[in-house]
Amino acid sequence: MHPRDLSDHSPYVPGRGVEEVARERGLDPDDLIKLSSNENPHGPSPAAVEAIREHADRVHQYPKSSHTDLTVKLAEKWNVEPEQVWVSPGADGSIDYLSRAAISPGDAVLVPNPGFAYYAMSARYHHGDVAEYELDPTDGFAQDAETVLEAYGSERIVYVTSPHNPTGATMSLSAIETLADATAPETLVVVDEAYGEFAEIDSAIPLVDERDDVAVLRTFSKAYGLAGLRIGYSVVPESWGEAYARVNTPFAANELACRAALAALDDEAHVAESVETARWAREYITDELDAPTVDSAGNFVLARVGDAERVADAAQERGVIIRDCTSFGLPEHIRISTGTRTETPEAVETLNEILAELDLGVRA
Ligand SMILES: *Cc1c(COP(=O)(O)O)cnc(C)c1O
Repeated sequence: MHPRDLSDHSPYVPGRGVEEVARERGLDPDDLIKLSSNENPHGPSPAAVEAIREHADRVHQYPKSSHTDLTVKLAEKWNVEPEQVWVSPGADGSIDYLSRAAISPGDAVLVPNPGFAYYAMSARYHHGDVAEYELDPTDGFAQDAETVLEAYGSERIVYVTSPHNPTGATMSLSAIETLADATAPETLVVVDEAYGEFAEIDSAIPLVDERDDVAVLRTFSKAYGLAGLRIGYSVVPESWGEAYARVNTPFAANELACRAALAALDDEAHVAESVETARWAREYITDELDAPTVDSAGNFVLARVGDAERVADAAQERGVIIRDCTSFGLPEHIRISTGTRTETPEAVETLNEILAELDLGVRA
């Protein structure tokens, strides 16, 4: 007795964890700087932590009002109807809900390469096929409508990541509109704004209200620092609203996650500080790292170092965990998440030492 043929399904490769690396290298976890998973170096909002404590003794009950309250609060924030907000376990959960709502067997999705692995994984779970559009490294991985449309073949969902992971590049709102106009009425353009807070461009959410073929993903994992709770959402066209009840996992998000998200939304100072630090740190990395970088609108910077595996390995040995982008199809690139104002310069100094020692023939 075996599972079905899953040979097409590649497992998700996460950034390396602190405990994992510390154990392997015999290092003290407290001495490690973890810049591999685009997490918030300031931690969660203290208000969110307080909300988790306050509601901990109620977790024997299914989440009901917290989910409703969060949906309503998000709808108010974005000026949409509550039915248009699909709360989910991480934005990844929303990707699954959209797959379930959109993909019939044999339908396809169009995803960026390099890009976030879960779009394709989710499509395949739902018996969909996957096509790719290529982002060009010699062009700063630029994301414009033409690049996507050249590869477009009437897929059911077209994914756009803005800011893009792992490059940090954005797609302008006008390009997203051009793309949505040029694709078939039955194609949903999904704009993944997991890093939207860090960018200096507007959200695509107003487009969702104007038209019926654009949806937007958002998460509490990055700017809000709640990655461990798994809480995110999508904003979908009004005509998609009632599909949520038909595709979601019962009690889609957990009680503590909803409570923490509600509190985090009110803690504007925490988000503002997180965004400010990320913007400072991405400038710092871009200016100071001795390697060519891509301009980033996210809380990370992609750098071409020549041999990602060797650099990531050497960095780990010295207590700095960064992301080897080989699994993104970029074996010459590393992705460095933005850290605090003390961690970031330390990490860059370590990386510069390594780049000088390995001398891989790539210069800033
Ligand atoms: C981190 C990330 C997400 C979602 O993360 P969740 O933790 O599931 O909310 C979605 N898209 C991209 C591009 C990401 O980097």
